[in-house]
Amino acid sequence: MKKDAAECTRVLKDRFGYDTFREGQAEVVDALLSGRDAVGIMPTGGGKSICYQLPALLLPGVTVVVSPLISLMADQVRSLSENGIPAAFLNSSLNPEAFCDTVRAAAAGEYRLLYVAPERLDTAPFRELARNLDVSLVAVDEAHCISQWGQNFRPSYLNIADFITQMPRRPVVSAFTATATLRVREDIVAALGLRDPLTVVSGFNRPNLYFEVTKPQNKQKELLLYVKKRAGRCGIVYCSTRKTVEAVRELLARHGVSAVRYHAGLSDAERRRNQEDFLYDRADVMVATNAFGMGIDKPDARCDNCGNCHGAFEEVDATEWMRAALNCVHQICGRGWPYGKAMVCDVLKGAVNEKVRRARLADVRTFGLLTALPQRKILDVLDALEQDGFLAVSDGRYPTLTLGPEAERAREEGFRYMLRVPKRAPDADGNADATSEDLFETLRALRRRLAEGANVPAY
Ligand code: ADP
Repeated sequence: MKKDAAECTRVLKDRFGYDTFREGQAEVVDALLSGRDAVGIMPTGGGKSICYQLPALLLPGVTVVVSPLISLMADQVRSLSENGIPAAFLNSSLNPEAFCDTVRAAAAGEYRLLYVAPERLDTAPFRELARNLDVSLVAVDEAHCISQWGQNFRPSYLNIADFITQMPRRPVVSAFTATATLRVREDIVAALGLRDPLTVVSGFNRPNLYFEVTKPQNKQKELLLYVKKRAGRCGIVYCSTRKTVEAVRELLARHGVSAVRYHAGLSDAERRRNQEDFLYDRADVMVATNAFGMGIDKPDARCDNCGNCHGAFEEVDATEWMRAALNCVHQICGRGWPYGKAMVCDVLKGAVNEKVRRARLADVRTFGLLTALPQRKILDVLDALEQDGFLAVSDGRYPTLTLGPEAERAREEGFRYMLRVPKRAPDADGNADATSEDLFETLRALRRRLAEGANVPAY
């Protein structure tokens, strides 16, 4: 059933309106048309649907598309119908009459594509129907749902292989996902019983994506500002914990932003509903943990549009800074008063201000221990220590610091704490000014210590 490339390109243009194939599409189409199984691993929006929709037009009989989301099925069937391609779905959103009509039309061979949820393949009536259809191709969309290592494991995906086996003639089988991990890929091939599949991985480098790391002083304020500036446009806020998802969603809702939540603690039904609300523009913002499967699931993703990869950061040995900070938190928070990062930073910096004076913190041993560091850098160190679990920040209205669960590790002999810090631009002579500034500050701190020891002024 091999078709030549020119014919495929003509169908692509005539039926779908596209001039050229996107990366990976032509290879998958070619494999499927020549009777070879295929796995397409392409990012969301990469154009997976064409990979099976186009062969569906050129192969005899019908293509069965297995898709996990009712709304996505409806969406695809609508746009296929708009292109004059006969397609339908069978799912619970149809009333009994429409369901029977669709089954009758399918049995009469009226559709090129028939969309079903994986659960439908388990039912005897659908198996009976499928056995009597001329099924040339089975396309499994969102195929990572087959993998127990994937984020959205859906048990009935495991029965697709059984469905295929009971067909009178084995159709060509294809699987598509945006999840690129090897483990998931291997699961897909094994669990679907794919035969010598062509595997195409494409397009994870997305020039339209840009990554930037910023450290806002006030995360909530900054987030609200960011979202408000883009009112009416959609976006995803990823949070590291379920609790933060809840808090951020509430914050946005309080400020009139239509936001839905997504994390592993919700029921399947709510997760699906919220995902669909987001996909179909009923909610502008999705607040989610990485359980929401649109993240970059690729360990070596380094999409050059990222500050980290641009060499904007360097690793420095921050063990002394860490010790100073942990000692300071231990000392001043150990006095029974709750203090936040700002106060700890003031103490480490040796700032003589009203707050410090009133709290009588100028006499603690760690006062001024990091006087050589700019205040911003001390705060960066405290942030990093919090992220790495050496410090913990309480929730309440005034977040206060305590030692974190990792703090004990810092006492271990030989323990070094390495920190990624933003590099500064080299000066006119090509010297990295971060290095010279750090050296200067180190020397100044040394001078101060020596001066203190000798009880003389520091000059
Ligand atoms: P995926 O299923 O991979 O998320 P889709 O199949 O929904 O992606 O395609 C994403 C978008 O790209 C759709 O708007 C589709 O019309 C468009 N698209 C797909 N293939 C092409 C192509 N060859 N040329 C131009 N646009 C394309």
